[in-house]
Amino acid sequence: MYKEMFNYQKLDLQILKLKKENKETPYTKVMADAISAVKVLQEKTEKLGQDAEKQIENFNKLTASLESIQNEIEKLEQELDIPSEEIEKKVKDYSNQLNRIQSNITILKANIDKINKMFEDAKHKVFEAKNKHKQAKAKQDEIMGESEAKINALKQEMEAMEKNLDKALLKKYKDCKADNILPVYVMLTQNNACGGCMQELATNELNKLKQDKTLVCEHCRRIIIDRE
Ligand SMILES: [Zn+2]
Repeated sequence: MYKEMFNYQKLDLQILKLKKENKETPYTKVMADAISAVKVLQEKTEKLGQDAEKQIENFNKLTASLESIQNEIEKLEQELDIPSEEIEKKVKDYSNQLNRIQSNITILKANIDKINKMFEDAKHKVFEAKNKHKQAKAKQDEIMGESEAKINALKQEMEAMEKNLDKALLKKYKDCKADNILPVYVMLTQNNACGGCMQELATNELNKLKQDKTLVCEHCRRIIIDRE
């Protein structure tokens, strides 16, 4: 009577194995990696955006400085009573300031070019990661589809077997399975241990098992069946 039950359980274990195998495939790993890569790149582009804003701020400051120097020069042109040495000194001073601004603008331009390049690079990598994810997902969906067909076939086979199973054993089986215990039925090992968790049975437990032919394992809640 237990033989059919074990055969039935064997199919259920195959289903469990299929589900487990397909949850983690090389494709699911590629998908997870792609998702985390996109996340990192999004953080990076956000930071680049903040950097770009800073560079624009700097650019505005430089433009303001240029304007103020221009105003100073205009004022200088209107003031005719300033001694020529003083004008010469001021012109020199403004010229130095203009040089400094010029070199800052050069640096700023290089920074902006760099940010643009990094931004384009990140955009390209996001595109690549999304593409990888898409390809892996298609393969994974294929695997899941195949596995689902196999699982459905096994389920049908099990359903057909149920008619010939002992009703009480089947009920116990389904109750245990509902509690996430699978396999439900295990054989007593040669060392008189539970075939599920391998815990050795105490003498009184073993006697009870010999008497009743079955025993619920205290450790893993599986149903131990006596060796035939
Ligand atoms: Zn056990």
